[in-house]
Amino acid sequence: MNEPSSVPEQVDAVVVGAGFSGLYMLYRLRQLGMSVKVFDSAGDVGGTWYWNRYPGARCDVPTTDYAYSFDPELEKAWTWSEKYATQPEILDYLRFVADRYGLRSDIEFSATVTSARWDEQEKRWRITIGCGTEMRCRYYVMATGCLSLPKSPDIEGADRFAGQVYFTSRWPHEGADLTGQRVAVIGTGSSGIQSIPLIARQASQLTVFQRTANFSIPAHNGPASADRLKQLGGDRDGYRHAARWSRGGIPMEPTDVLGVTAGEAVRRERFEAAWELGELFGILNVFADQAVDPASNDIVAEMIREKIRSIVKDPETAEMLSPKGHYFGTKRPCLDTGYFETYNLPHVRLVDLRKQPIVSITEDGIETADESFGFDAIVYATGFDAMTGPLVAADVAGRDGLSLKEKWAAGPSTYLGLMTAGYPNFFMLTGPGSPSVLSNMTVSIEQHVDWVAGCLKDMREEGFETIEPTTLAESGWNQHVQDCAAITLLPTANSWYMGANVPGKPRVFMPYIGGVNAYRQACDDIVGQGYLGFRMTGPGGDRCRDGVIRRMQPDVAMVLEFLAAMGLPPMETLPPADARALMAATAATRPPGPKVGEVTDGAIPGPSGDLPYRLYRPAGPPEGLRPLVVYFHGGGWVLGNLDSDDPLCRDLCERSGAVVVSVNYRHAPEARFPAAALDAFAAVQWADANALELGGIPGQLAVAGWSAGANIATVACQLARGAGGPHISGQVLICPVVDSDMTRLSYEENGDGYILTTALMRWFWDHYADPADRSEPRAAPLRGDLHGLPPTCIVAADFDPLRDEGVAYARALEAAGVPVRLTRARGHTHTSVTMVGTVISGAPVRAEIAEALKNFFPSAEPLEHARQRR
Ligand code: NAP
Repeated sequence: MNEPSSVPEQVDAVVVGAGFSGLYMLYRLRQLGMSVKVFDSAGDVGGTWYWNRYPGARCDVPTTDYAYSFDPELEKAWTWSEKYATQPEILDYLRFVADRYGLRSDIEFSATVTSARWDEQEKRWRITIGCGTEMRCRYYVMATGCLSLPKSPDIEGADRFAGQVYFTSRWPHEGADLTGQRVAVIGTGSSGIQSIPLIARQASQLTVFQRTANFSIPAHNGPASADRLKQLGGDRDGYRHAARWSRGGIPMEPTDVLGVTAGEAVRRERFEAAWELGELFGILNVFADQAVDPASNDIVAEMIREKIRSIVKDPETAEMLSPKGHYFGTKRPCLDTGYFETYNLPHVRLVDLRKQPIVSITEDGIETADESFGFDAIVYATGFDAMTGPLVAADVAGRDGLSLKEKWAAGPSTYLGLMTAGYPNFFMLTGPGSPSVLSNMTVSIEQHVDWVAGCLKDMREEGFETIEPTTLAESGWNQHVQDCAAITLLPTANSWYMGANVPGKPRVFMPYIGGVNAYRQACDDIVGQGYLGFRMTGPGGDRCRDGVIRRMQPDVAMVLEFLAAMGLPPMETLPPADARALMAATAATRPPGPKVGEVTDGAIPGPSGDLPYRLYRPAGPPEGLRPLVVYFHGGGWVLGNLDSDDPLCRDLCERSGAVVVSVNYRHAPEARFPAAALDAFAAVQWADANALELGGIPGQLAVAGWSAGANIATVACQLARGAGGPHISGQVLICPVVDSDMTRLSYEENGDGYILTTALMRWFWDHYADPADRSEPRAAPLRGDLHGLPPTCIVAADFDPLRDEGVAYARALEAAGVPVRLTRARGHTHTSVTMVGTVISGAPVRAEIAEALKNFFPSAEPLEHARQRR
């Protein structure tokens, strides 16, 4: 692959950065026989460990895991001295690695890449170094790290201070002697929290300016964990394999204990164990639900606050140091050594910037809204322009001359955090959209480097010269990254994960939170599918396998995996009684759904006997009248009852503010078509006639249903329209059965593997209706007259065999002049939207349903008015 030596400024690959990722990238590219040049503006290898030399700087992942694993011999050759190694030791390690593999000869230090431009003619990158040296390369790799561009001190007067100024991220190589000085530290993130106890040892006075109190746990540093060393010694390969396929990049079994349901003793025991362990991944794994459920999160957060109060003697200072206003883990938690204890020292003071913000830095100190402080030195521990900062700062321009900065003006857009459309042969290591900062970086770095090296090798073997993601693949991945984040609490915080620490930076969750294992699987799947989502070009032609690698909502995928692991028998292989028992057994284990004001059971006189109903009244004054919604459960006319859809009814009631009456109807095969439909119509008539008694506003009646329940709900609307009443204000049809034609594309695409299968649907129809009846509008309402039906909200889920008939019904209703709101449940199955409390990503869909319900009704009438109208 080497270019002719007559063009000395040309190499196969340029890599920017000589930290963990750049060094390993160089090693792997060399293995491919490529000519490589690495540039780093630092004076030596080390990356983040070259620059961040502040007192107390250490890694916050155990060093046994925070190391390369690509060469077992390297692992034998190096022994870490502590559980969390210091910055000098980690830097020594990287120097050792550079020397061991002879990497320095291809690295140019104190050399900054100032621009990179893609030359479409030459199919090469033109790289400018420093003031003008040019270089050309086929592949351009940014190994610049996620936290390498310090945030400028966005504080008024910062340039005015006449004393010593230090940045934790650019600490002087010769060190800083703060002995006897009056020192200010601004910032209480990991850098501040690590350095403050050591600065306090030197300073005569230390004042810490805190904007946001941070969660921190003791590192309990010391020798490397004997347990880990034993595991590594016994089965190194197994250990490293487990790390690569773990969620965070460290072998660890994720807990299934839920904070919200665990007893007090279990909660305490798990928390104390994590506190004692002193590892970030441990404290983030006290409960399975702490990252998604505010109530569970608060249990952990409060226990940490208790610890802070028990360490810090002055109650006022303890209160200031107790994090509030963000959930635990939504900002990167810290590991410390004596941080909170430092505030017990007489010469250390904490200033809460929420109470007295900094007005200005002055020539001799800091002025807050309340006080003037004099200092000899100011230490900025104010963080970084994280993840995107180093990438956009490098002036990278792609095929159309568009700079990365412009392309990412509204936030980063990448495929896998590795590449971005419009920038051929441009690779980012641990870029936004990859697990990176949420994982053990070394494991993620090795995975990225290996993937890039594998990709370049495959390209060469197949005769391709360029590779670039498609815009479809990229937007699909961005969506998946956001979907993964959206089911957690992380996007709620003003964190650097969100870009919220840099004024004016777009607020986008940048890292991939789906896990190292899930991410690795996605990368492997992409390769397995012939580089899905990438376009490759070369002298031999082009190849593009366009597509999206992950379309399903992450929590839906988890539920499917969980169910598959249970190995339940397919419903359609069971007699109805057994299928009902199975459904009841699985329903018994799910979360109960939200609390509502009141739940009462009763009976409706049906066409052939009483029909049980359950009424849900929203919280609020009991005498207030509300719109009324008659709801029919799902279950293919065969399964289900008042309990089966209870959480969904609670959710609908709570969100919409309507009284929901869930009606149980006769089931097949005991009562076949049209029994269920006739029961539904009777229930609607009864609800209309008894609206006031039910707490409903007369004349404000809607119907709703899921699946077969939606089928009979809309049939009831058709029957009411035909009978001249009752008046129905609207219908909500969640994944409805509206036709008996099972040949639509969605049956082909989703007929297997997503809970409701084609086989199960056939079983339902066979129990419910004779083939001759199945085209009757009371069975297949899509075939009925749709004129004059009430305004409709239809939910169609991507992975539902019924998706296309739902869409067809929406189109047909529209054609008949009915106002329709079609809600696409993106990434959902037939059942997942209804899984209240289990599938968090269904919540926005249910919020839309509730919104549609509210819009069916005019604003609530006063009680007296409604009674008079009656
Ligand atoms: P950081 O977490 O962003 O913390 C910066 C601190 O400065 C925050 O307390 C922030 O307050 C405050 N701040 C920023 N601008 C300010 C302003 N204008 N006025 C007052 N306060 C201001 O940065 P970091 O501590 O350097 O850590 C960044 C990341 O690097 C960490 O989260 C971690 O991933 C990594 N790191 C790791 C280690 C390690 O142990 N291996 C050590 C250091 C860093 P707000 O919170 O209110 O914005």
